[in-house]
This record gives sequence, C-alpha cells and structure tokens, in this order.
Amino acid sequence: MTKPPDDPQLDLDAIREELEARRDAVGGRVAGLAARPELGSAQGFGKRIGDGTIEAVSRLTEIGVGRSLESGLARTERALAKLDEGTYGVCDSCGATIPAGRLRAMPDSVLCLTCAAAERRVAPRRR
Ligand SMILES: [Zn+2]
Repeated sequence: MTKPPDDPQLDLDAIREELEARRDAVGGRVAGLAARPELGSAQGFGKRIGDGTIEAVSRLTEIGVGRSLESGLARTERALAKLDEGTYGVCDSCGATIPAGRLRAMPDSVLCLTCAAAERRVAPRRR
C-alpha cells in the first residue's frame, strides 16, 4: 500500500476540520431540501407566490442544487473516511499519491489527477 504523503505543509487536522465543517453545512442543506421540499422556495425567501409556475421552476432549480450538493457531500464524506483509514492523500482508484498541492486546493480530492481526468472522460457520454 502506498503511504500517505509525508508533507509537513499538509495539516491533516486542519483538513479534517474543514471537511467536517463542509459536511455539516452541506448535510444540513441537503437534509432540509429532502425533508420539506414544499417549504424550500415559498418560505425560505419570504415569497408568497400565487402563481404555481414560478414556484415549480425554482423547485426544479433547487432539486438540481440538491443533487450537486449531494455528490459533493459524498466526496467530502469519502475524504473524511480516508482520513480515518489513514489513506488520505492516496488515490481511491489507482493507489497513487495525490500531490499535496492538489489536496490543499481541493481537500475533498479522493482521486489523483490522472484518475480524475479519466473519470471525467468516461462519465459524460459515449459516441
Ligand atoms: Zn489514480
């Protein structure tokens, strides 16, 4: 197994704190959207809209936001799990060491640059 990068610049405690704060903030928003979708747009911004169309549109936008929040949340939770496992900074896909600079820029990175790029190439759609 590849050992995590031994970079004195990388403060794992600070990273954990940031990831946990992010998880709590995003988790709260996702839970809020999931629990009471009917209150999300109408009460949240103090609007009382008689016309259902505007509400439906903002509901759709909110669902989209919720989805991207959820995938971000999954990555944040995975990064936290890796901190617990002692594999933080090791690529989940190929086991390569993730550069400290990338981790500092994106603390929730669980893939190295190569695998992240490969995933982006595969994910969208095939010809
Ligand atoms: Zn990799």
